[in-house]
Amino acid sequence: MSSLPLHPPPPAPPQPPTQPRTVLRAAHLGMCFGVRNAIALALAHAPTQPLTILGDLVHNPTVLKRLLDQGVTIQHQVAAVSTPTAMITAHGASRRRLAEAQARGLRIVDATCPLVRAAHAAVQNLARAGFHPVVVGLRDHVEVRGLTEDLAAFDVVLTEEDIRRLRPRARFGVAAQTTQPIERVRHLAGLLRERFPGAEVRVCDTVCQPTKQRQYAALEIARCADVVVVVGGIHSNNTRELAATCARHGARVHHVQTAADLRPAWLAGAATVGLTAGTSTPDEVVDEVERWLRACPVAD
Ligand code: SF4
Repeated sequence: MSSLPLHPPPPAPPQPPTQPRTVLRAAHLGMCFGVRNAIALALAHAPTQPLTILGDLVHNPTVLKRLLDQGVTIQHQVAAVSTPTAMITAHGASRRRLAEAQARGLRIVDATCPLVRAAHAAVQNLARAGFHPVVVGLRDHVEVRGLTEDLAAFDVVLTEEDIRRLRPRARFGVAAQTTQPIERVRHLAGLLRERFPGAEVRVCDTVCQPTKQRQYAALEIARCADVVVVVGGIHSNNTRELAATCARHGARVHHVQTAADLRPAWLAGAATVGLTAGTSTPDEVVDEVERWLRACPVAD
């Protein structure tokens, strides 16, 4: 026969109110079609022939490791290639560089993104039409070298100071590295017009659509998130630009390469966390970061 306990257990203490964390995944994020195509091409060729990639196929350590595991070699100079086949990355190459590779008898696998090709055509057309090419981008980036190496004269600009250093010309033709924020391109083109009011300034918008989509989507989440986590290679230009855009719009920003870089302390007091990723970040890396963000306990 059961009996009632003399002292029933005290009621459970009230739990402190916990605020569920919202993780906002950017509407457009992560790997673009150009990088996906280039990786697929490299992985298709690697098992059948020794392959050297000319430069980093993507600025992402996870993808690079996968390629190196397949026996792919990476070299930055044509002269250093020791396999019969060499691959041009999605970033493209100048005609001069292609000719150098062909002169060495190399078979070329060309993974140049069609949108980089369009940027090459735009810069060449500007030069042919008598405009002095001004490329908005990172001077030492492989894509910018490809865009400019065939030109007799050009300038590369990234800052207002760079515009102040330009010599007067009758006609300027502005184009951009495909992964530059379009706002920067418009701003610098505007400054160029102000600085040389008598010059004709023609602007070709060569920023690619996937970059624009990721930039706008990052801006949207930066406006409503307390913290934004940006996933991508530390040397990836477009990933760094995403982080800079989010920081400009007031979010606390953390740039990670993988989930292993995340720290719980970053999320202290953050009810809403935004998530975005650069165009060379693999889906599985983004998904792992998202799982971690959702699982990390809420702390004050
Ligand atoms: S970032 Fe743009 S230009 Fe570069 S590979 Fe991707 S789609 Fe092509």
